Amino acid sequence: MSWSEYLLLGRLIFFLLLLTLFVLWTNKVRGAMHLPGYCALLASLLMLVIAQSLHMYARHDPSSYYQTMPLGLFTLAVLLLLLSFMDLIWLSHKRARQKLGADSQREWLRDVYEKIPAAVFVEKQGRVEYGNSAFVSLQARFERQNPFEDCVQAQQEIWLSTEKGERFAYWVAQFPMLGQEGCAYIISDITAIKLQRDFIAKVSSDLYHHGEKTLKDILNSIHELLPTSLIYVARKEADEKKYVYLHHMGGKTDVNVFDDLYLNHSLSDKKNHWHWLTTKALGEFSQDSFIAQYSPQQIGAISLCDEVGGELGIILVLQPQSQKVNQLLKSFLSIFSLHVRFEFEHFQSKKRLQKSHDRYRSFVARSNEAIMDIDILPGINMEHSFEHQWQHLLNKANISEYNPAFSHIFNLHGGLEMKELLAIKSIKHVMKYILQSGYGSEAIEVAHEDNEAQLRWINCSVMADTQDGKVLSLRLIIRDITHSKMHIQNLEYQNSHDLLTSLPNRLALRDTVDEKIEQALQFGFKMALLLIDLDRFKEVNDTLGHHYGDVLLKKIAPRITPLLTPYRAFFARLGGDEFAVVMPSFQSDIETHALAKNILKKLREPFDLGQLTVEIGASVGISQYPKDGQDTSALLRCADVAMYRAKKHSNSILDYSQEMDENSPRRLALMAAMGRGITERQFFLHYQPKLTLSDNAIRGAEALIRWQHPDMGLVNPAEFIPMAELSDVIIPMTQWVIEEALLQVKEWLKKQQYVKVSVNVSTRNLLDENLWSFIAEKLQQYEVPAYLFELEITESALMSDPERALDTLNKISDLGVSISVDDFGTGFSSLVYLRQLPIDALKIDIMFVRNMCANEQDEMIVKSIINMAKNLSLTVVAEGAEDAQTLEKLKDMDCDQVQGFYISKPVAADDFFDFCESWQQE
Ligand code: C2E
Ligand code: MG
Ligand code: MG
Repeated sequence: MSWSEYLLLGRLIFFLLLLTLFVLWTNKVRGAMHLPGYCALLASLLMLVIAQSLHMYARHDPSSYYQTMPLGLFTLAVLLLLLSFMDLIWLSHKRARQKLGADSQREWLRDVYEKIPAAVFVEKQGRVEYGNSAFVSLQARFERQNPFEDCVQAQQEIWLSTEKGERFAYWVAQFPMLGQEGCAYIISDITAIKLQRDFIAKVSSDLYHHGEKTLKDILNSIHELLPTSLIYVARKEADEKKYVYLHHMGGKTDVNVFDDLYLNHSLSDKKNHWHWLTTKALGEFSQDSFIAQYSPQQIGAISLCDEVGGELGIILVLQPQSQKVNQLLKSFLSIFSLHVRFEFEHFQSKKRLQKSHDRYRSFVARSNEAIMDIDILPGINMEHSFEHQWQHLLNKANISEYNPAFSHIFNLHGGLEMKELLAIKSIKHVMKYILQSGYGSEAIEVAHEDNEAQLRWINCSVMADTQDGKVLSLRLIIRDITHSKMHIQNLEYQNSHDLLTSLPNRLALRDTVDEKIEQALQFGFKMALLLIDLDRFKEVNDTLGHHYGDVLLKKIAPRITPLLTPYRAFFARLGGDEFAVVMPSFQSDIETHALAKNILKKLREPFDLGQLTVEIGASVGISQYPKDGQDTSALLRCADVAMYRAKKHSNSILDYSQEMDENSPRRLALMAAMGRGITERQFFLHYQPKLTLSDNAIRGAEALIRWQHPDMGLVNPAEFIPMAELSDVIIPMTQWVIEEALLQVKEWLKKQQYVKVSVNVSTRNLLDENLWSFIAEKLQQYEVPAYLFELEITESALMSDPERALDTLNKISDLGVSISVDDFGTGFSSLVYLRQLPIDALKIDIMFVRNMCANEQDEMIVKSIINMAKNLSLTVVAEGAEDAQTLEKLKDMDCDQVQGFYISKPVAADDFFDFCESWQQE
């Protein structure tokens, strides 16, 4: 082929290509070839253009290079063109095959679309291209070609109405059709679900917004959803294996399937969920039961359980035909079962609450305690001032209720206002206290005057309900404690008072002394404690009997109390015949003694005991604060020591002093030194003459011991003899005195001085079996005739153990030694005993003799003792004659002997001798 023919062919191909491109373009077959196909076509075109251009150029420059180049390019372009055409053909063949497959698939889909319940249709450019039969019926229902033309979203729910006004809900899903203008639609009828959901939402919203629904409402709702079913609800009784029928809904039957249904097992173990009843559970019902005509698949159940799994009850849904219960319904039933459950729980807690409320109400109503509730609105701010809070209480508080006991205690009739309540004195007091104490809950006791002006005692506690620093309510609990208070007061009185005399007792005395010490300390007072011991009371009691003793004791307080008023003194009975007076303050001992003297004077006045009149005396011991002790015990002990001492002297008043105290350091030192004193010859004797009145001669002397202590000087026997009597020292001491006295008698005898010496012996000496033999031995040793020796035994020593004394005294008396009763008159000796004892003389006590000129009574006593002694043929000695008048009187009374300072004080042996010499000469 020539070059020009090639060129022509090339041009032809070029146009062919252009034509192909045009066809492709006009038919818009963009996907007619693969991308490499299009590229090969373009490359072929490009090469043809280049080959043409080179060819044009080669005409003017016919070199070999430019001659061959267009041909090569042209060949390559043809090849590329062929390739692109091959791609075109292969692709179109493939498309044809695919189209055939798609057509058969569409047929199959059409078949499916016809069968599914959903409506399906395809819409293109506003026209329904295809619709399945379900869609066709929808078209018929709504009499529209496309009832869903308004749907614009990919998925949406739509409500449509028919001409008749029926409304239907549809779910519409839209799918754009690939490569085509138009969409496919799938439509589901969701009217039923929608209605159910709306219904549930509405009921739930009602429940949420309008509070509780009753069980009946809930069942109604379930029934609306399952209109053909019968719904039963039963409550499981707590702690009982029994379902109690509550309600049923639906059907016309009144049959209660739960009648007498006692179960060993629960009907369901699926808690709070919908499920079909098991055959086993159905078997729990009797064969005759109405429920037996249902199969398990027809009985839906929801067991209602509380949070801990305890069964509250059950809902049974009986359905005539096995109705499909969709998931929504199941959830719905479960939700409603929740409400029923709450209803049950609510019912149970309401029942419990009601029960406890009823119990509380009955407790409050029947309570003996007065209970009142006060509401305060708005609450009282606890940080406000007391005044502010009080006003708030008055104006903003309201009495919500109070029980019958409250009405009773406060004698209320009808309503009560806050102001009236706070006007009641006791309540006012309590409330003020509560407010001031920051609403503390401690109970307080207050006096309350009732309507009849009777004093009562009430115990009040107030409980405040506070929130955020505000008191919102108050509860008053008040108890009438009058009886217990009285009882306690009675007990306290009994505890602190002596029942016989109604005087405060020892316990009360201690309390009072405690209190007065405190006051004395605070104000710098001196305080005194007087202990009074009645003299001769024991005799009254023993001889006249306890009745008279009691009568006498009862008469003490009325006599003494008036004396105490000016001193604001306190009077108490310590027991027996012991009394005490507390003087809260005094200036000097003159005051305490004046009071003590007045008391003694009053007590000495005769007591009229009915048929009898008796006379007694008393001894008073006084201790002082702060001189004698710092506390009650010390003061009581000191007063006791002083009183004991005073008692020895009878009818006397003694202030406490350390010397008289057994436990004082001086006393302890003396006690320790006494034994050594005997061996170291620190003791000596003084002799006091006894004057025989008949011939005015000194025929006797009393040996009285003296102690010259190396450090403490001369110690009085009244101080150390009682101490010696407490220990065995009294034995060697008496022996020393006896020996010393007998030695002295012997000395005097040598000088022709006949003096009968008397020696004092103590109780302990009388119990010493060696006393008798000792005296006998010493009489013999010193060759002293027994008639010049005498023993003086105090009346009290004789009376303490007369039986034993009798034995010793008989033996001594048999020796020829005289026995004299010392201090006679103080001990009220029984004459019966005295007559049994070998007694030669009586020594009338100093107490009577000393005052006999001034005191008629004492004179009478002295006179009667002398008479009695004469009658008993006893020598009678009066000791304590301090003046001539007394001596004269004693002479007149026919007293045998007199001893006293008037004649002579006790003197040393030598002085005694001189005295006797001079006396005789007179
Ligand atoms: P008492 O046996 O009753 O002795 C009489 C006391 O009265 C003596 O005191 C004597 O000094 C005192 N008295 C005598 N006449 C008068 C007077 O006119 N006026 C006053 N105011 N007092 C007078 P004294 O010596 O202090 O003895 C006191 C007591 O000590 C004695 O009382 C006696 O119970 C006891 N006592 C003395 N010596 C002994 C003793 O050797 N052995 C024992 N066991 N007791 C003794
Ligand atoms: Mg004597
Ligand atoms: Mg005497």
